[in-house]
Amino acid sequence: MTEIAERPIDMGAEGADLGVIPHWIGGQLTAGHSGRRGPVYNPATGRQAKWVDFASADEVDAAVAAAAAAFPAWRATSLSRRTEIMFRIRALVDERRKDIAGLLTAEHGKVPSDALGEVARGLENIEFATGIPNLLKGGYSEQVSTGIDVYQIRQPLGVVAGITPFNFPAMVPMWMFANAIACGNTFILKPSEKDPSASLLIAELLAEADVPKGVFNVVQGDKVAVDRILDHPEIKAVSFVGSTPIAKYIYETGTRNGKRVQALGGAKNHMIVLPDADIGMAADAAVSAAYGSSGERCMAVSVVVAVGDVGDPLVAAIKERLPKVRVGPGSDPAAEMGPLVTREHRDKVASYLDKAADAGATVVADGRQAEIYGEDGFFLGVSLIDNVQADHESYRNEIFGPVLEVMRVATYEDAVKLVNDNPYGNGTAIFTRDGGAARQFQFEAQAGMVGINVPIPVPVAYYSFGGWKDSLFGDLHMYGPEGVAFYTRGKVVTARWPDPGTSKVDLGFPRTR
Ligand code: NAD
Repeated sequence: MTEIAERPIDMGAEGADLGVIPHWIGGQLTAGHSGRRGPVYNPATGRQAKWVDFASADEVDAAVAAAAAAFPAWRATSLSRRTEIMFRIRALVDERRKDIAGLLTAEHGKVPSDALGEVARGLENIEFATGIPNLLKGGYSEQVSTGIDVYQIRQPLGVVAGITPFNFPAMVPMWMFANAIACGNTFILKPSEKDPSASLLIAELLAEADVPKGVFNVVQGDKVAVDRILDHPEIKAVSFVGSTPIAKYIYETGTRNGKRVQALGGAKNHMIVLPDADIGMAADAAVSAAYGSSGERCMAVSVVVAVGDVGDPLVAAIKERLPKVRVGPGSDPAAEMGPLVTREHRDKVASYLDKAADAGATVVADGRQAEIYGEDGFFLGVSLIDNVQADHESYRNEIFGPVLEVMRVATYEDAVKLVNDNPYGNGTAIFTRDGGAARQFQFEAQAGMVGINVPIPVPVAYYSFGGWKDSLFGDLHMYGPEGVAFYTRGKVVTARWPDPGTSKVDLGFPRTR
C-alpha cells in the first residue's frame, strides 16, 4: 500500500482521462481536495483504470462530523424502523449482486463466480442484522430486593470506523457496517485503496434504502486517513481487517487513544490430512481452498500437512488436478482463478518459489511456467511446493497467493505441533474418517476457526469470525453475536417505585436480603 501511496502522482494527462473515485460524506459523493490520489488497476489487463482520492485529515474530520451529527437521531430511531431499513438494504444488495460483483472483478480481479460468492457471504451479515431487535434484548430480574428490579440494556457507542483489506472489498465492509448501524452507531468506512469502487455502490444502496445522511460514510485513502481515524477523539471504536503488522499497529495505536479495537490480521492455515482420509476428497479440498481467489483469502489453505504415508499419494492427487485449474480474466466464463491484485504482489508471491527451492524444498508445479504468466495482467499460475520445512522462509511468511506448500510429518502429534507452534492462528482443518481424532483436534488446535473435513471453515453470520494469536488483536471476534457486543456497551439499571410515605434516610450499604 505504501508503495502505491508514495509513488509520484501524475495529475496531468493520464489523471485527467481516468475517472477519480471520490469519498461519500454526509450522504453524497464528495470529491477529494487533498491533492493526493492513488492509481487503481484492472489486474486482468495490468493497466491503470482509475484514480482514487486519498483523504487528508481534514476530510476524515468532515466525515466524522457528518457521522457525529447523524448519531443522536439515528440512535433514537426505533428498532422497528432500523430493522425495516436493514431489510431494504438486504433487498437492494440482493438485487444488485451482479453489479457489486462486477466491480470486484474489475478492481480485485477475482472471477465472477468467486465475486458473487463474496457478495453472498457478505449479504448473510445484513440478514443477521435484520434480527437486531432480538439481538439487543437485555435481561430483566424482578424483585432482586423488595420492590426493586434490575435490567440490562445495550446501547450504541457513537461514531465507529472500519478499515478494510483489498481481498474482500464488499464482504468485509458488510461484516462491519451491518451490525454497527443496526445497533444504532454511525459508521465510517476506509476501504482498501486498491479496489475502492464497491464501497461507493454500497453507499448508494444504503442511501436508497433510506439510511439517513451521515449514518454511513466512506473516506478513501491510505495511512493518512487511517492515522486520523485512530487519532480522532469522536471515533469510539475501530474494526480492522488486514495484514498482521498493520493490525498490531491499529490495535496498539487505537487502544492507546482510548478506543475499542478489534484488529484481524494475516494467516497461515494448515490442513492436516491423516492417513485414513479419502485422498481424492482431500486433494479436491486442498486445490479448491488453496487456489480459489488466487490464494488471496485469509482463510485459504496455504499448507497441507501430510501425516504418515499419505504424502506421496496426496501430492500425486493434487498435482494431477493442477493442469485443470483454468486461470484467466474474469471476462472468460471458463476462468476459475483470476490474476493477483497488483504486479508487485504477484512478483513477491512468485519470489517465494525460488526461495523455497534454494532452501531445499521441491517445486512440484511452478506457476511462472503458465502461459498466462507472460501476459500484461498480474497473472500467476498455480504452484505446489513439497517437502517444506518449518524454518523455510516460504513457510514463515504469509504468501497470500496461489502457492500451496506441503509438509510431511510422521504423526498426528507432529502435525498438531506445527499448527500450534505457528504464530498465526486463523483457521485450520483436519481431513480424516476418524471421529475421535477429529474431536481431539478440535480440542487442542490453537486457532479460532476449525474445519473437520471442511477446508475453509468461515463461520456463518450467526457465529463470529476471528483467529487467535497473531491473527487477531483484541478481545471480540467480528460479526455475529460478538460483533453486536463490540458495537454496543452494556448498562444495568436498578429501579424501584416506592411509596414516598415509606422513604427514610439510611446510610448503610444497600443490601438485597
Ligand atoms: P493491509 O494490511 O496492507 O491493508 C489493510 C488496510 O490497512 C487497508 O485499508 C490499507 O489502506 C490500510 N493500511 C495499509 N498499510 C497501512 C499503514 N502502514 N498504516 C495504516 N494503514 C495501513 O492488508 P491487505 O494487503 O489489504 O490485505 C491482505 C491481508 O489481510 C492479508 O494479510 C490477509 O491475511 C489479511 N486478511 C485477514 C482477514 C482476517 O479475517 N483475519 C481477512 C481478510 C484479509
